[in-house]
Amino acid sequence: LMPVPSDIEISRAQKPKPVDQLAEQIGLLPEELEAYGRSKAKVQLSLLNRLHAQPDGKYVLVAGITPTPLGEGKSTVTIGLVQALSAHLKLNSFACLRQPSQGPTFGVKGGAAGGGYAQVIPMEEFNLHLTGDIHAITAANNLVAAAIDARILHESTQSDKALFSRLVPSVSGVRKFSPIQISRLRRLGINKTEPASLTPQEVHTFVRLDLDPSKITWQRGIFRSTGFLLFPTLSCGIKIMFDCCAVASEIMAILALADSLEDMKNRLARMVVGTSRSGQPVTAEDLGVSGALAVLMKDAIKPTLMQTLEGTPVFVHAGPFANIAHGNSSVLADKLALKLVGRDGFVVTEAGFGADIGMEKFFNIKCRASGLRPNVVVLVATVRALKMHGGGPNVSAGTPLPKEYIDENVDLVAGGCYSNLRKQIQIAHLFGMPVVVALNVFRTDTQAEIDLVCQIAKECGASDAVPCYHWAQGGRGSIELAQAVNEAANTPSNFQFLYHLEMPIVEKIRVIAQKVYGAEDIELSPEAKAKIDYYNQQGYGSLPICMAKTHLSLSHMPDKKGAPTGFVLPIRDVRASIGAGFIYPLVGTMSTMPGLPTRPCFYDIDLDPVTEEITGLF
Ligand code: ADP
Repeated sequence: LMPVPSDIEISRAQKPKPVDQLAEQIGLLPEELEAYGRSKAKVQLSLLNRLHAQPDGKYVLVAGITPTPLGEGKSTVTIGLVQALSAHLKLNSFACLRQPSQGPTFGVKGGAAGGGYAQVIPMEEFNLHLTGDIHAITAANNLVAAAIDARILHESTQSDKALFSRLVPSVSGVRKFSPIQISRLRRLGINKTEPASLTPQEVHTFVRLDLDPSKITWQRGIFRSTGFLLFPTLSCGIKIMFDCCAVASEIMAILALADSLEDMKNRLARMVVGTSRSGQPVTAEDLGVSGALAVLMKDAIKPTLMQTLEGTPVFVHAGPFANIAHGNSSVLADKLALKLVGRDGFVVTEAGFGADIGMEKFFNIKCRASGLRPNVVVLVATVRALKMHGGGPNVSAGTPLPKEYIDENVDLVAGGCYSNLRKQIQIAHLFGMPVVVALNVFRTDTQAEIDLVCQIAKECGASDAVPCYHWAQGGRGSIELAQAVNEAANTPSNFQFLYHLEMPIVEKIRVIAQKVYGAEDIELSPEAKAKIDYYNQQGYGSLPICMAKTHLSLSHMPDKKGAPTGFVLPIRDVRASIGAGFIYPLVGTMSTMPGLPTRPCFYDIDLDPVTEEITGLF
């Protein structure tokens, strides 16, 4: 339709096919499906065993130029591309997307189901609770926090003997260690299984985690809008730290990176929650809580099956932010989808924010964890965003667009292409990947501007660059993109990681800063240096790096558009997510607990009590 109706109107106008019918069409057995209502279902991981011998399909990563407030449309391109591949080129294809968190949905962005005629439906379900995975993560996160509080309280008020008799109670006169406790004993070097055989010194070592209240690193998970409540203090004097809810939590990262239930359980057990007074890391397993966490997360680990407007399959699973976390959907969803589409099919997955952030982490963190190797990168750009990178004026929400973004202006477009677009193409080439540039066309773009972007993108090394019109036309508007991706995926790629894990932590950070962001060098604060020394001593030196950096610039300065040079990247602090398996440096003033804007999206969201219709969501 012209003009294109709103996202929610389009979504509501299309009735999704029943999820069991979709499942049958893509080769799932009825017993592998757990339906949540009519249009979404969780898929059991046993499917991976059943399809073990099936060759994987082609693996496509959708990334973007540096985001601007004008919007780029990576999710929209992801959905438009699979609609074009499946419904129009008749190639099996699957989209794998992250589940959006309530922060962006109720705060700044609205939905993340795509847009126009390239969407996941029903979009209300996609954008709200889905199948409860994020709630499970929040519950698990807060269980760890409760376990820490309780442990500190009980250790401070009880003798070794009293603690031991409560931690290892006697049942019908017999005292027995639980498997989690035996695992802790092994790590302490106590090779005994009989509680009565422990010496008083061993009992002391076993029962006292002796957490240093000033060195608790575990963050409570709350909804992101509560930034104002930061750092209240418990009655026992412990400062409570909050993180940006589930999406930035280590448990979310674990959900996204685990490749089986067992792997998730082991990662949950390894999570470090703080340091003892003697300087030793204390883990979730030391707290005895790791089994309970796995129980809370046992359904969340199964990806949720949904569909696009054109009835093609989508997995929605995990949702870490890309700036303060690693920004990619789950390894398991990608693995299941690659088996389901088969050798000639396509799995299209999306990395958050610009390629310098989401794509770099996709390669260096997610691909290392999964062992999967992508075939092609699709780099999304828009004429309007390129104009801003080329020197166009800033825009603020709710004000009319300046004329530069409405009228033709090829100079600004060229400026954006030769700075940000070229740099992001070069970043993909660092990993040996072929790049197809997808120009997501907006109504105001002129033919001269569209042609110019495609021409410069190819000049800068893209294998191909094509305009796409899926937002206004659905899959048929992106057939050219689908053909370009099909062709690029059939050329051999020379994938390589950017750094070796064995390089020192500081060198890994420097390589990312210089090669990916374009920095001259890095500058570490004394705190960051001390943390790196501590992580090296603890044996964490060979983990990959997950930079927490603004997504609004290739540099650490959000207002520097284009491709800034000549800057030194400040590393304020360094943290570690041992269960997830990465070290994360905090760059500049990056906050892990962003707040809501003055007028969040929730002002417009309401429910009609008679029809139960949601209004104002997007
Ligand atoms: P990203 O994944 O890059 O954050 P999305 O795909 O979620 O961006 O799109 C953000 C918003 O922009 C959506 O509401 C979508 O409808 C809108 N949008 C995307 N592409 C277009 C387009 N070509 N024309 C108009 N609006 C668009």
